[in-house]
Amino acid sequence: MIGLENIEKQFGDLTVLKGVTLTMEEGSVTALVGPSGGGKSTLLRCINLLEIPTSGAVRIGEDRLEFRPGQRVPTAAIQRLRRQTGMVFQNFQLFPHRTAIENVMEGLTTVLKWPTDRARERAMELLEKVGMAHKADAWPATLSGGQQQRVAIARALAPSPRVLLCDEPTSALDPELAQEVVDVLSDLAREGTTMVMATHDLRLASTIAREAVFLEAGVVVEKGPAQKLFSNPERERTKRFIATLT
Ligand code: ATP
Ligand code: MG
Repeated sequence: MIGLENIEKQFGDLTVLKGVTLTMEEGSVTALVGPSGGGKSTLLRCINLLEIPTSGAVRIGEDRLEFRPGQRVPTAAIQRLRRQTGMVFQNFQLFPHRTAIENVMEGLTTVLKWPTDRARERAMELLEKVGMAHKADAWPATLSGGQQQRVAIARALAPSPRVLLCDEPTSALDPELAQEVVDVLSDLAREGTTMVMATHDLRLASTIAREAVFLEAGVVVEKGPAQKLFSNPERERTKRFIATLT
């Protein structure tokens, strides 16, 4: 289970998350939707602790960390929690001077200290899973955006994280290439991968998300089953926002 308890995040005088509480069950897929600047990316970054919450608590499985203003959390505890997450970014962020397979192996060999052979084997399995085994030795620059994102997904999954966090995974892609990525993410969802994804893409969200959260100005306005939130939300504000998505 992933739990966010009353997460607040401030950047100087700006309060970006104003007490967000959410529970994501193991094997669930949650879409995070809402207007630009509402705090979706910040919330994802508070789950993997790329941003340290100003206050509140984050729980992933058995690990729970509490944050208080002005109190430093030990780096080792942060790294332990972060290692249970994998992140996929809008703009892929592959290492340009590593081949596709080297990108997938990187975290296994450097962070987890796996022997190269074992890492290569695991990386190849994941490239197969995302339909990229035939491009294992290709450089990122020679791949299409959809192909790069599929390698990035394989890389994020390599250390077997408890949760895959996706920040607008299709929004830099043309519709056809976006579909490749949606297909891969749907397969993962079907296999029970726990995912939380920020997206403006209603097709992506409604294809694979079981749960949805509408976040606006750092506040959860509405949350519930994705089908309901997208087709028949409780709140007028949610309704108006959903109507703007395509
Ligand atoms: P979008 O849909 O455009 O991706 P978002 O919902 O992901 O938006 P965030 O990127 O989380 O929104 O940003 C929320 C607010 O936090 C914005 O006002 C943004 O300017 C601010 N913000 C985000 N990161 C920082 C930072 N490192 N320093 C200062 N302000 C930040
Ligand atoms: Mg964002």
